[in-house]
Amino acid sequence: MNKRGLILVISGFSGVGKGTVVRRLMEQYKQYALSVSVTTRPPREGEVHGKDYFFISEEEFSVMEAEGRLMEWAGYVGRHYGTPRDYVFERLDEGKDMILEIEVQGALQIKEKYPEAILVFVAPPRAAVLKERLLGRGTESVEQVEKRLLRAVEESESMGAYDYLLINDDLPTCVEELHQIMQCEHRKMRVNGELLDDIKLDLKRFVEGE
Ligand code: ADP
Ligand code: 5GP
Repeated sequence: MNKRGLILVISGFSGVGKGTVVRRLMEQYKQYALSVSVTTRPPREGEVHGKDYFFISEEEFSVMEAEGRLMEWAGYVGRHYGTPRDYVFERLDEGKDMILEIEVQGALQIKEKYPEAILVFVAPPRAAVLKERLLGRGTESVEQVEKRLLRAVEESESMGAYDYLLINDDLPTCVEELHQIMQCEHRKMRVNGELLDDIKLDLKRFVEGE
């Protein structure tokens, strides 16, 4: 295994179950850590500052952006969201695979700046299921749900730019597929430079010593 962690970007329509999939993945496998974003939207009931998001003002957001402290940022349904750089890089250096659960504009910025990042798009089995899940979650008004569905139509145009498509139908299957994707990514030659050198050296020394 390579020592440095990989960046895993997860996007998908609001209500598709990204948060649920990511939570399960992290409960089951300890190699992952979640990036905590900053946002200017107000907290939902039960959301904790520093855990779900860092809830900040528009002014604070502008300062972070101007100082280059965000890896990416985007506007979403009238609010701003961004990924703090230091938090992510410290954990990548510790060997964690860092999960960025972000929307499409941000994901495309990440791919451009960090081409080694892995982009996964989560889709529902059918549109009707998406609406059911959004309404079932009970965290948005009916008007907000409609806005989020319209946004999903826009976002669906960008799905093709992602590396992988995951359908979140059966939850455990979806979680397992995501983990398998990451296991394969860790096997790619291009992220295993150090290990390749170690293998070559070990082999050379062994043969010379015989
Ligand atoms: P997102 O983070 O994509 O906005 P959530 O993780 O909040 O979505 O999930 C939206 C709702 O759908 C939640 O009530 C969640 O329990 C439910 N859900 C998520 N995945 C599944 C699934 N595979 N099957 C049925 N319900 C699901
Ligand atoms: P929510 O308001 O439902 O928590 O999030 C709305 C959307 O913003 C979701 O698609 C979520 O993935 C996205 N999002 C959350 N954090 C970030 C971030 O740091 N950057 C970007 N670009 N999108 C984010």
